[in-house]
Formats: sequence, C-alpha cells, structure tokens
Amino acid sequence: MKLHGNMSIKNNTLYIGGVSCVDLANKYSTPLYIFDENLIRENCREYRKYFKVDENSNKVAYAGKAFLTLYMCNLIKEENLCLDVVSGGELYTAHKANFPMENILFHGNNKTIDEIKMGIKLGVGRFVVDNFYELDIIEEICKENNKIQEIYFRITPGIEAHTHDYIKTGQIDSKFGFALINGDLYEAIEKLSKYKHIKLVGLHAHIGSQIFDIQPFIDEVDIMIDLIKEIKEKYNIDLKEIDLGGGIGVYYTKEDKPKTIKEFCEAIINRTEVKCKEIGIKVPTLIIEPGRSISANAGSTLYTIGSIKDIKNVRTYVSVDGGMTDNIRPSLYKAGYECSIVNKMKYEKVNNVTVAGKCCESGDILITHANIMDIESGDILITTSTGAYGYSMASNYNKIPKPAVVMVSNGKANLVCKRQTYDELLELELI
Ligand SMILES: *Cc1c(COP(=O)(O)O)cnc(C)c1O
Repeated sequence: MKLHGNMSIKNNTLYIGGVSCVDLANKYSTPLYIFDENLIRENCREYRKYFKVDENSNKVAYAGKAFLTLYMCNLIKEENLCLDVVSGGELYTAHKANFPMENILFHGNNKTIDEIKMGIKLGVGRFVVDNFYELDIIEEICKENNKIQEIYFRITPGIEAHTHDYIKTGQIDSKFGFALINGDLYEAIEKLSKYKHIKLVGLHAHIGSQIFDIQPFIDEVDIMIDLIKEIKEKYNIDLKEIDLGGGIGVYYTKEDKPKTIKEFCEAIINRTEVKCKEIGIKVPTLIIEPGRSISANAGSTLYTIGSIKDIKNVRTYVSVDGGMTDNIRPSLYKAGYECSIVNKMKYEKVNNVTVAGKCCESGDILITHANIMDIESGDILITTSTGAYGYSMASNYNKIPKPAVVMVSNGKANLVCKRQTYDELLELELI
C-alpha cells in the first residue's frame, strides 16, 4: 500500500497527520473517514501556484461533488479557491459556510426552477448554462429580480476521455451541454440578443474524469481557443474566460500512473499561450475545476474486520463493517483500491484475500484481490484514496448509518461530521 501525504509508520502502526489510526478507530469507532487536512491544503496550493492564479488571474474551482461539507467549504475558502456546485444542496452548504457567492460556479444539466432562483438570489458568480430551457428560466428570474447574470455556455467539444484512452469524435450524444457539431452552440449565441438579463462571458467544457493523459486537455484548449476567435469574428462577442473543467487522474493502485498537478497545469498554461500567439488573440482567463485530484488521496477509510470466511481452494472473504454504503465506486465502476491493516503494518506473512462489505448484495466487494497481513477478526483495515466520491456518494442502503468524518493534522484529530445515529435515520419518517 502506497503511503500518501502525511502517512507514516511507527511501531507497526499507521499514522496519518501524526495521529495513530488505531487510536482514531478506538475513539471514533468504525467505519470512519479520515482526511489528511494538510494534504488537501497542499494540493490547493499546488493548483494555485502552477495554474498561475495570482500571476495571471486564472481561477481554480474545487468541484464540490467530490467531497463537500461545511468544514470543507471553509477550508476551500481559506485556501482562496473558487467552488463549483451542481445542486441546490451543494449551494446551500456553501451558503451556510459563508462561502463568497461571487466565487461560485453553478453547474448542472437540469437545474430546477427553484435551484436557479436560489442561485440568482444568493448571487452566484457564474451559471454554467447547459441548455435552451435553462436560458429562458434564468432570463425570467433575473428580470423579476432586476439582476444581470454572468454565464458560461457548456459545450460538448467532441473529446471523450477515459482513464487510459480518449477519442475525438463528433460526439453529440451527451446529456451535457450544447453540441458544437450540430450548430446548437451558434444557435444559442444568436439567441442571446433577446436575453437582456444574461451576459455571456465564457465557455466551459468538461471532458471526463480520472484522465492520465495530458493530450486530451491540450486538444480541448485548442478547440476552445479557436472557438473564442470564431465567436469574436462571427458575432463580435469578446469571451474572456475559458473553463476547462476537471478530470485529472489520481493514484488508486499500482496500475495508475498519474501526472503531477504541476505537470498538468504547466502543460495547459503553456499550450494556451502558444495557441493564442499562433492565431493572434489575447490569452484568456483560464479556469480549471479539479475535484478528485484535490481530495481523493487525502482521504482514507477505516473498517473493523469481522467475519473471515476461508472457502478452501476458492477464496477467502474478509468482511468489514462498511462497504458499498460508504464506498460505491468498486461496485459502480469496478474501481480498484489498496488496503492494509493499520495495527500490523510490518507483518511478514501476506495473504491474498477478498475484502467484502456487509451489505446484502453479492456485488458489495471493496477489493477483489487484496494482499494483506496475517489477519484476525478485530483488526483495523484501511482503504486509501477514498477522499473523493466516497462520503459524497454514501447511502443509507440496508439502513446503515453514514460514518463519521475526521480531519487530522499536526498530531490532532478534529471531528467534522458526526456519525449518523439510528434515530437520525428515522428522522424523516412518519408513522
Ligand atoms: C465532475 C466534474 C468535475 C470534477 O471532476 P474530477 O474528475 O473530480 O476532477 C469538474 N467539473 C465538472 C463540470 C464536473 O462534472
């Protein structure tokens, strides 16, 4: 298991941020999400530095859907990043954390009328408009409230990127954004003159997630810069902002070979400068929206091992007290994870086992082939890199309460989300 950020081993025990994982499990019980606060902050600072936030007034917007709580909003605010939200609930969380609304980007392919109202009233900085329906609603609500809303158009640039490969297509088959290829974007721009309360200031695209290649981002830059020039020539509209979305890949297992934040940012910034020079336009303000690459490696999950079932000549199932309810990614995407036993970090004997969750689904497997130490019931197992799309995708399936979340740094632990109680599970239910 790779040690991330501020992880270390002392007396066969795993420490994160100077705090013993055994102590954390004892104090807060399991399952438990642990976040290495200094690693999150460090990632934010790397982005600010290499994406030239201060130097070029570029912007880094953390994609809240990866992991968002009041505490996380506050941390993102302290690190001077912008925030990208995709729902009324995320927006409300940011509002309650006093996040500066002008630094919020509001995404979504089907924002409801109530969500749009909420965004406009709270004064979010930018709406990333996905479709014609949304344009009409924003106009109407802005008119009622006598406001002008700045927006980006989300476009489908015809680049589809996945973990290990990407394709350039004329892809218009996407539920997100205005397609380039069929002229929808141009139609939207032509319609703008009838919207008196909407101001188009930029373009947005998001090409995928967990991407290791830099090339798709370079292609994206080229397409966006060409578009800016074309829109200026055709419609005399000056778009000064280009939002390239998120998607930068991270390490989960040995198979993943991610680039650093520095490498990604430098490549994007350099290509933008070269491309703008080539076609003779001013370098626009760039926006990037990393989610996973800020929070994934900073988060881990602790579980207590219960039943160990050795099916001779078949497989050994090691079951833990959580599973698909706190980490849906293995069942949903066949995502891989690494694990270890936090109270036995230096044992010699290694077994190949399957780590299973406790939910009533045979698909509730966290790790199919895990190499872990000589295990016994009661040992504490950790899965690493669970900081993105873990807690934010957690559910109450099987009426399992959501685990607590603890931030650790400099030898101290700080509870930032309480464990859900059985009574809280029933809070919404009427008899
Ligand atoms: C999901 C998403 C992101 C963040 O993606 P990561 O892979 O977590 O970096 C950014 N922008 C948009 C529009 C998204 O949908």
